[in-house]
Amino acid sequence: KNTATPDDTIFGKIIRGEIKTEFLYKDDKCVAFKDINPVAPIHILIVPIKFITQISEAKEEDEKLLGHLLLVAKKVAEDQKLDKGYRLVINNGKEGQQSVYHLHIHLIGGKQLSWPPC
Ligand code: 5GP
Repeated sequence: KNTATPDDTIFGKIIRGEIKTEFLYKDDKCVAFKDINPVAPIHILIVPIKFITQISEAKEEDEKLLGHLLLVAKKVAEDQKLDKGYRLVINNGKEGQQSVYHLHIHLIGGKQLSWPPC
C-alpha cells in the first residue's frame, strides 16, 4: 500500500513505523534517529511528528514545538556525550539545500567541525 501523499515524506513513514528505524529519542511531539548518510561521526535528525514542511512555513502556533525541538536536540547531544561541542542545522528551501520537506534539525558532531559551511 502506498501511503505517500503530498503531505508526506520518507520521514512520515519513519515516524509512523512503516520504515523500521531505531529512535534515539521519542515523545508525543518528536522523534530522533540517525541520518542515513552521516556527514560526521554523529549525525542525528530531530523531527517533529507534526507535518511542517520547512522552517519558513512554521506558524506562531508552532512556537512551543520549535522550542521543544531545540531542547530535545540538546538532550540528545548530552546523551551522545558531545560535551566538546556540536552543531544544530536547519536547511530551508532550495538554496538552503533542503532535500526532505518535513521540518528537521540536524545534530552534527563527534569531530572538529569547520566554519563557514559554504
Ligand atoms: P535536508 O537536506 O533536507 O536538510 O536533510 C535531509 C536528511 O535526511 C539528509 O541528511 C539525508 O541523508 C537524510 N535522509 C534522507 N532519507 C533518509 C532515510 O530514509 N532515513 C534516514 N535515517 N535519513 C534520511
